[in-house]
Amino acid sequence: MSKTFEIAVFHGDGIGPEIMAPTLDLLRGLSSGYDFRFTDCPAGAASYLDCGSDLPEASLDTARRADAILLSALGDPAVRYPDGTEMTPQIDIRIALDLYAGVRPVRIVPGMRSPLNLPDGKVVDFVLIRESTEGLFHTQGKGHVEADMAEETLRLTRRTTTKVCDFAFRLARERKASGSQGRVTSVDKANVFRAFAFWRDIFDGVGANYPDLTADHAYVDAMALWFVLRPWDWDVMVTENMFGDILSDLGAGLMGGLGMAPSADIGDDHAVFQPCHGSAPDIAGRGIANPFAMILSAGMMLDWLGRRHDMPAMIADAARVQAAVDACLAAGETTGDLGGPLDTRGAGAAVMARL
Ligand code: ATP
Ligand code: MG
Repeated sequence: MSKTFEIAVFHGDGIGPEIMAPTLDLLRGLSSGYDFRFTDCPAGAASYLDCGSDLPEASLDTARRADAILLSALGDPAVRYPDGTEMTPQIDIRIALDLYAGVRPVRIVPGMRSPLNLPDGKVVDFVLIRESTEGLFHTQGKGHVEADMAEETLRLTRRTTTKVCDFAFRLARERKASGSQGRVTSVDKANVFRAFAFWRDIFDGVGANYPDLTADHAYVDAMALWFVLRPWDWDVMVTENMFGDILSDLGAGLMGGLGMAPSADIGDDHAVFQPCHGSAPDIAGRGIANPFAMILSAGMMLDWLGRRHDMPAMIADAARVQAAVDACLAAGETTGDLGGPLDTRGAGAAVMARL
């Protein structure tokens, strides 16, 4: 009997709907032993102009009830709140659904426009876990500003720090089963901030529950250097919100830009899968956007759902989607941003053909 998964779909703004369309086609085409029911969730700039809300309650409700959430890109720098600030519904979703673990895989495969020249035999394949609900983002727009002084605070809670570290160790264990090092590196600044000594203590405590894995630490400034000089060294990293924000863009840079970077934001009960890039209003409406980051994010959704519901066929399909994108990259079957001749639909069709 086939299992049907409810998926909340945020088509979004700009190139969002363009990259979502081939992604949904691809998911509809897979479905061996499972099916999807996709429900559209208006949100973002178009929704704000349409109904006065960039995250309507009904969309958030649908997301809350869904088995998983697919999100392309929300927002448009030209559409702002009356006070001039940009809308960030994707961050509101993260907070509302307590999606504490931001998962940012960094893989360099042939055909990507990586600025790195990797030595022969070196493979870059690591995952950065960014705590996504507190840390240096916890004051979010409510920082304290006086005429001659401004102040923001860093908040780390034992509850969330424990959860996100545990998430990182579980992921490292899964990855070890398919040949990775089985190593988790905490990225912090414990030499300067007491709050990070607190983080480190919790990380070490959680790591003690995983004697089969290696746990170590690095300072964030050193890690920025090592991302560039020794990116093949790492397996799973876990870090605070702002450090993770910065390092994940650096990771996307190693892959040649945001067009190739997928992501997931995962909590205990919900998960959002979305590309790292924004709505790219500069190229919207032309059908030329690169759909690979969106498709790879959908692949991460298959992996997450498959593990959660114990469906090996789905986990295998996740690996097939990634392999199909890799094959397209290697063959130059890509959109113009990667130097290829295809448009968005063509690139989506190329991935399906490889599947
Ligand atoms: P946000 O604030 O929403 O994160 P951003 O300012 O970081 O947005 P993006 O919308 O990610 O900007 O776009 C940055 C640049 O990358 C733009 O020139 C855009 O055209 C390009 N870009 C982003 N995503 C894609 C994609 N999928 N395919 C091709 N080009 C893209
Ligand atoms: Mg951005």
